[in-house]
Amino acid sequence: MKNFIRHIIRHTSNIMPGSIQKKDNHPPTIVLYHTIENHQPSFITGYKVKSVDAFREDLEFLLKHYKPVSLEEITRQTNQKDSIHFSFDDGLKSCYTNIAPILKEKGIPASFFINPTFVNNDKIYHRFTYELLKTSESNLSSKYRNYENSKSLEEIAKSKGFDIEEWSLKNNPYMTLEEIKSLHNDGFLIGGHSMDHPEFYKISFEEQYKQIEKSMEWVNEHINPSIKAFAFPYTDHGISNKLLEKAKNKNIIDISLGTAGLKHDVFPSHFQRIPMEPKSLNTAIQIFKYEHFYYKIRAILGGNTVHRN
Ligand SMILES: [Zn+2]
Repeated sequence: MKNFIRHIIRHTSNIMPGSIQKKDNHPPTIVLYHTIENHQPSFITGYKVKSVDAFREDLEFLLKHYKPVSLEEITRQTNQKDSIHFSFDDGLKSCYTNIAPILKEKGIPASFFINPTFVNNDKIYHRFTYELLKTSESNLSSKYRNYENSKSLEEIAKSKGFDIEEWSLKNNPYMTLEEIKSLHNDGFLIGGHSMDHPEFYKISFEEQYKQIEKSMEWVNEHINPSIKAFAFPYTDHGISNKLLEKAKNKNIIDISLGTAGLKHDVFPSHFQRIPMEPKSLNTAIQIFKYEHFYYKIRAILGGNTVHRN
């Protein structure tokens, strides 16, 4: 039912005239991308990759309506209706080769969220392995897409003669540590995104905490950013206030991020982002019209804040 309503709203917002409305009481506008490439890599199936031209088109619209600011700046105050923050998850190579040069050209501050396990291309994300293997093993069960089966997936790959390490070092899907350091030196914020991108809603509280702690330790040791920021992989669905409180009280995180769209969050230092690579909508105009329209509908129904236990 919820999906049906979303579907209707998506279509209605698309054909509606008018522009986005920025209200004083809106949550901060933080957008989320992963990679910008002219062709969709075969191993990325979770979102629709935008081309350089499409990204520039998004920027043209967003910069016309908002002033780009740092993460610290946008989360400092409640009324930030004219500001926007750009964030990029997963530490893929294009962050360094395609994205950062455009951001620098336009003077846009941004944050990049890294999985330390994949830095330097020693290992890759379990879902990349799954998609790569599936091209030759079409019968591969979808259960191997999940983190809990990633060890078994690696064994299957090995038995089929697919050398993940060799593929990774040859194709370089991720940034190297030197490239990440260079982003930091250019003034971009580097944050943690868990060690190896598990589905947080499927792992225990202890594992969730360890993933945050270890990845933030890595970021502090190698980068030492001015603020400690963490973006939850996939979604913050399934995490508890207790987890956010513990990470905050132990001084591991200053700011954390989810992916629920234009929504408020009940936890004061946790903020939601707008995913910019949905499969159903193409341009920033369409996405923002949808998010603002959906926000309005939810405001009437009283559901614009993310609550958790
Ligand atoms: Zn991610």
